[in-house]
Amino acid sequence: MKIAVLPGDGIGPEIVRQAVKVIERLKADGLAVETATAPIGGAGYEAAGDPLPDATLELARGADAILLGAVGGPKFDTLDRPLRPEQGLLRIRKALGLFTNLRPAMVYEELADASSLRPELVAGLDIMILRELTGDIYFGSPRGRRTLDNGEREGFDTMKYSESEIRRIAHVGFAIARRRGKKLCSVDKANVLDTSILWREVVNEVAREYPDVELSHMYVDNAAMQLVRAPKQFDVIVTGNIFGDILSDEASMLTGSIGMLPSASLDANNKGLYEPIHGSAPDIAGRDIANPLATILSVAMMLRYTFANEAAATRIESAVRKVLRDGVRTGDIAKPGERTVGTEQMGDAVVAALGAQR
Ligand code: NAD
Repeated sequence: MKIAVLPGDGIGPEIVRQAVKVIERLKADGLAVETATAPIGGAGYEAAGDPLPDATLELARGADAILLGAVGGPKFDTLDRPLRPEQGLLRIRKALGLFTNLRPAMVYEELADASSLRPELVAGLDIMILRELTGDIYFGSPRGRRTLDNGEREGFDTMKYSESEIRRIAHVGFAIARRRGKKLCSVDKANVLDTSILWREVVNEVAREYPDVELSHMYVDNAAMQLVRAPKQFDVIVTGNIFGDILSDEASMLTGSIGMLPSASLDANNKGLYEPIHGSAPDIAGRDIANPLATILSVAMMLRYTFANEAAATRIESAVRKVLRDGVRTGDIAKPGERTVGTEQMGDAVVAALGAQR
């Protein structure tokens, strides 16, 4: 198993270093993986004049999974658009055909106070949101601007999904629900949109192959409301690109700690790119204070979804849980006055907790 490690910019290298320590620790216990590192984003631009250097893309293509830190930073903001760090990310996702975005929203009991919702509403929350990543109104054509006969300007986009696009994300949704709480909620706007009527039809057809998974449908406006009213009612949510964009951000904020949340983008064969949901945090880069747990938990997702190694994934998640239970906190998840540790120390604490499991 090969992992391409792309640290990127800002806090990327610091947090990825901690995740690599975790991988090394699992290797010592027998996990058969190899890692190789390459630059992406601003680091790619500085190394090779391209946010996605050819050598980096080649490494990623040859790997089974990719671990990414984050890209971007103020010193790259003035570059021409094709040279900007985020282009590296968009291009690698496209080049690798990563059409499913998996965004868990989890709240550890110990951190329930960090949410803007009451702790009892979110303590123990564990939702998985699947967002289709390569279709919908973000990619549909025609799109553009025109001037109407009366001289008024008009902007337009096209929402569309083909049957096969819906079918493949629905299959992923059911398969993931099957491994979790066996409940899938498909979110659409079928009371208004023809695209959504087809979406619902196709999801219902796919459901016949998964009789053990309980399927429900919800309109997106209601889903947005239910996520803040009673988020624990959800297990897995599957939805299109634009609804997923909005709902996954809403759900991640339920947890109140951006430094804790991993994500995955998968292709049709479960090859995946794994990364924390946060950015490169240039405001704290290089100071050894960033929280590396989202990146470490991204490795757990990698082990579960690409390498089908549930045992190793659970080991990492249990180690993180133990560290939190022991009161180890980086600044972003500490309460006022609580003692904090740095990025390296947090990584070391997780490695030590892994060691203590054996
Ligand atoms: P950000 O997520 O980098 O930071 C938002 C806030 O959260 C900052 O105050 C930051 O210090 C804090 N934060 C983020 N991650 C943290 C962590 N692990 N530990 C502790 N605190 C953390 O978002 P931003 O400030 O809007 O963007 C900064 C740069 O990152 C920009 O260049 C942006 O384009 C880029 N970005 C990249 C990605 C990505 O690589 N996937 C995603 C979002 C933003």
